[in-house]
Amino acid sequence: MAVRVRFAPSPTGALHIGGVRTALYNYLFARQQGGTFILRIEDTDQGRYVPGAEDYIIEALKWVGLVPDEGVGFGGNDGPYRQSDRKEIYQKYAHDLVARGHAYYAFDTPIELEERRQAEEHFTYNHLTRDGLNNGLVLEHAVVQQRISQGDPFVVRLKVMPGRSIIIQDLIRGEVVFESSELDDKVLLKADGMPTYHLANIVDDHLMRITHVIRGEEWLPSTAHHVLLYEGFGWQDTMPKFSHLPLIMKPVGNGKLSKRDGAKFGMPVFPLSWKGETEDDSFEGFREAGFLPEAVVNFLALLGWHPGGDQEIFSREELIKSFSIEHIGKSGARFDYEKAKSFNQKYIHAKDNVSLASMVRPIAAAKGYQVSDEYLSKAVGLMKERVTFLQDFVETGYYLFEPVKTYDEETLQKRWNGDIPSVFAELTRKVATFEHFNAPALEESVKLFIQEKQLKPGDILPLLRIALAGTMKGPAVFEMAELLGREETVTRLKALQSGR
Ligand code: GLU
Repeated sequence: MAVRVRFAPSPTGALHIGGVRTALYNYLFARQQGGTFILRIEDTDQGRYVPGAEDYIIEALKWVGLVPDEGVGFGGNDGPYRQSDRKEIYQKYAHDLVARGHAYYAFDTPIELEERRQAEEHFTYNHLTRDGLNNGLVLEHAVVQQRISQGDPFVVRLKVMPGRSIIIQDLIRGEVVFESSELDDKVLLKADGMPTYHLANIVDDHLMRITHVIRGEEWLPSTAHHVLLYEGFGWQDTMPKFSHLPLIMKPVGNGKLSKRDGAKFGMPVFPLSWKGETEDDSFEGFREAGFLPEAVVNFLALLGWHPGGDQEIFSREELIKSFSIEHIGKSGARFDYEKAKSFNQKYIHAKDNVSLASMVRPIAAAKGYQVSDEYLSKAVGLMKERVTFLQDFVETGYYLFEPVKTYDEETLQKRWNGDIPSVFAELTRKVATFEHFNAPALEESVKLFIQEKQLKPGDILPLLRIALAGTMKGPAVFEMAELLGREETVTRLKALQSGR
């Protein structure tokens, strides 16, 4: 059977990086199996709906290159893919399930239920309590029909029968067992006619012919209810296979990674920046922090999955080829931000200059740096071994775009002595007149000059570096000079001398 998987986020805010990992695993599995990857928006909980969240999800998926084959914004034959556009579909199935004897109508008002909860600390609507409540299991059939037709508000609840072990064959966890006696009679259809997550999720997985459900561990308890729903509808033969992904843990200490950890540990925990209503609900994303999407993908892929062996850098194709659900771990995966940074460094280093330049362009423009494409490509080429984030190109490497602001005084103090100032002045005059101004020619002429003066390269080259970049950590000095050009190079050599 053709593999069909779905990523089914609820638009309740910015999509957490864990959600992106879920999408990634679904995507990798689909690609590997020649299957279909679907984006379904689960927005039936109108109370938690946040405007902008759906667009955010779509933009985030596009940024990391996980483009769905079908789904909201991507077309497909099984739509609509937004659950709020499918309201009528669920109603029919809810009534169907009542007719099949696996669900019932309930007329208890929110106030009545609240009173009950106040009176009984651990009140649950279940096989023990339902006979004493106001529902279709207790009321005469005719009364139920009458109340519905006169427009009384009602919900539909799943009728969970006690005394059964519900066995889930999880592809990651193996056999997971839930006792039906411990499950409550979940609401499936709410009084406003909207389905709950449980009903909509199951009906859509069925109608969209989903073969594998790959989702976060937090959904595992719901799966017990879902199995009962599949059985109730008589769909057990086409029930998808379940895989519940391990939690993502905080970088240090216990507990799962939360959105607050971003601020706490100074790292992004969302793919893209999100501007919420309050400062507290606003977050910086991996994109805005200067990550390459492919580095994020590689990092996320290994957050819970590893094929064994030492390989850590995986191209998209390699990920697709080696991905397998069996190699996903059961226990929590620690979010190691240092690792994310090291992936980014490696991906930046390996990226071609022209693509890097196009990513750095807006960052440079925001700083007011206006240079040609050719200049920018060369500049990023010189710097790319030395940066972790895209911003570093214009922050650490600002001196490729504007005059040096501060000099490494410690090195200067050691080296700016004796004859050196006058030798340096002479070199400056020479540089202004060298016949060829490119890196190899400059290197040759400057080294010759150093020899003639009976000095060592270490007496002059560090000073040249500092004149051009302010620091000893900059790129190769002659390459830098070539890029800056003769005029700017001479200006900087003079600037170092003035006032010294
Ligand atoms: N709407 C659920 C969520 O927000 C979907 C869980 C699932 O994949 O079934 O994650």
